[in-house]
Amino acid sequence: MASLGALPMLGRAADAFGAPTATAKAKSSLDDDYYAKLNVGRVINARGTFTALTAAVMPPQVQRAVARAALHPVHLQELQTNAGVYIAQKLKCEAALVSAGASTSLTLATAAAIQGANGCKPPDIPIAIGPGQKYPKHEVIVQRSHRYEYDHAMYLCGARVVEVVTLDDYKQAFGPNTVMTNFFNSSQSGKIGYQDWLDVAHQNNIPCHLDAAADMPPIENLWKYTGMGFDFVSFSGGKGIRGPQNAGLLLGKKKWIDLAAQNNNPNQAVGRGMKVAKEQIVGMVAAVDWVLEQNDDAMQKEWTRRGDVIWRAVKDLPGASHTFVTEAIANHAPILMFTYDADAVGIKPVEVAAKLRAQNPSIETASARGNTLGISTWMLLPGEELIVARELRKVLKPAKTTAKA
Ligand SMILES: *Cc1c(COP(=O)(O)O)cnc(C)c1O
Repeated sequence: MASLGALPMLGRAADAFGAPTATAKAKSSLDDDYYAKLNVGRVINARGTFTALTAAVMPPQVQRAVARAALHPVHLQELQTNAGVYIAQKLKCEAALVSAGASTSLTLATAAAIQGANGCKPPDIPIAIGPGQKYPKHEVIVQRSHRYEYDHAMYLCGARVVEVVTLDDYKQAFGPNTVMTNFFNSSQSGKIGYQDWLDVAHQNNIPCHLDAAADMPPIENLWKYTGMGFDFVSFSGGKGIRGPQNAGLLLGKKKWIDLAAQNNNPNQAVGRGMKVAKEQIVGMVAAVDWVLEQNDDAMQKEWTRRGDVIWRAVKDLPGASHTFVTEAIANHAPILMFTYDADAVGIKPVEVAAKLRAQNPSIETASARGNTLGISTWMLLPGEELIVARELRKVLKPAKTTAKA
């Protein structure tokens, strides 16, 4: 964020808070590094878009958009509405909203589906929803292999999951209390495919949510699933899209996104505690603009090039070999799988990973199993591949010498 000092408007905003006194000046300045003040260590992320690692770093133009958005207030609902219209147009869907993340997107979709099915109001969710309540419709149909930790995002609305395995189960699962279906896109297991899933639900007039949180790249996925007919599609803002980590997208049909928006903050609704500040809404929009300027081939090439840089630093070690592994859906980016003879080198990949993590800055690798270390390069900042290559080499080389001595 060093470039922010160059923003003329930021200087004026700072002036609005009063000229610093001589003592105040010594205590804080525009250039303070709060991670240093808080004694929080820096991470070099060779692991991937993990929430616990604060996921992606925003590109400079997104950082700049966030900083500019902080300069003055706006009407929140005007910003929410206009951001939604802008994103829907860019991502070729009927409607969109900026949520506090993919998990929030799923909550707002569930609230919309419950509202649509029961004819209730946002404040009724969740207390007036469910068996024996004023509004009994609360069931979301999910394939057993698509159950996951984010089911909780639906429970928040008073929903319960009805599990199915076969297409026959699925057809029979629709009943008077069904409100929605949820499809976990990267599960890649489950007997029921996209088309059957959509067809049966739509024959029953039930909307379908698709969780595609980590499923960009490829860029076209941002419109592929809404194009297939999913009523709701959720993406994380802070993963491959590189927006703010506490932002996400809910894309879909206008009727349903409008209902989701009613359940969003600042309304007194299930989404009230899932506030997205003006800075993050603008950051999310800027990240969508950024993504649409990227090129899938160029990105994949760059991530592989970084992996090659790291590989070249260690390829002369005993038994060294490498390959790149790319998941088909979700985190679709090449991971360098580096294998070597751990006995001959004198240190196992798990120990290498632990040593790299303990360093400052801490280098987080993707996996360490048997004789193979996994290194994900897509979340590295430009040039960090050189640091990873150098530090990996250092950790491996003395280990060999020690082992021989
Ligand atoms: C990361 C992830 C989420 C949650 O995304 P947030 O943006 O952190 O809320 C939900 N579903 C899946 C499949 C994910 O990978």
